[in-house]
Amino acid sequence: SDIGSQKERVVTEEEWLQKWEMGNIGFHKEQGHPLLQKYLDVLLNGRSGLRIFFPLCGKAVEMKWLADMGHNVVGVEVSEQALKEFFSEHSLPYYEEPVPEISGGKMFQSTSGNISLYCCSIYDLSSSIVGKFDGVWDRGALVAVNPCDRQRYASLMISLMEKNSSYLLVTVSYDPNKHKGPPFYVPESEIKSLFG
Ligand code: SAH
Repeated sequence: SDIGSQKERVVTEEEWLQKWEMGNIGFHKEQGHPLLQKYLDVLLNGRSGLRIFFPLCGKAVEMKWLADMGHNVVGVEVSEQALKEFFSEHSLPYYEEPVPEISGGKMFQSTSGNISLYCCSIYDLSSSIVGKFDGVWDRGALVAVNPCDRQRYASLMISLMEKNSSYLLVTVSYDPNKHKGPPFYVPESEIKSLFG
């Protein structure tokens, strides 16, 4: 379970913004993720009206699914383009407002109020800004975080979770010496030490 040369790899925010500008977004799933459908019951656990967090959200269509089921969705994403594409591709009217606690931070909220997407780095967030969550859908998030930032990311995620919350995490398994990532390979042992 050695992650090899991926340990040192860093993808900058600028590089992510460029991926969006160039349309290099092979990670985006137009049809949504089958694993969310499969494990939806685990996430919801019979509860309704949950607050669900989408770290590093891109324009994930699953945000629309969960909002349509009556949940409150909060996402965070550095690319403003991604967030605008999300709202326009689902024909959702939204408004934009500054986030006073975050320099340069903006929040895009559907006019219906149930989808709030923060345009900033996830590391700018805290529970005093976004509150705590009953559920997390982590797909393309932990595996997209630079390996050197994983501990910081996991501690932040833990600080954003309510006591009785559920966290669905999607990872990928492959030989980390054959691909540079992202998505990065995160060994099971590391997931255990990050989240306990
Ligand atoms: N979860 C989404 C997107 C995965 S790709 C999906 O399933 O489709 C990872 C995304 O994280 C990219 O859109 C990138 O722009 C964004 N990102 C990278 N670093 C970030 C950071 N520090 N804070 C917020 N978003 C970030």
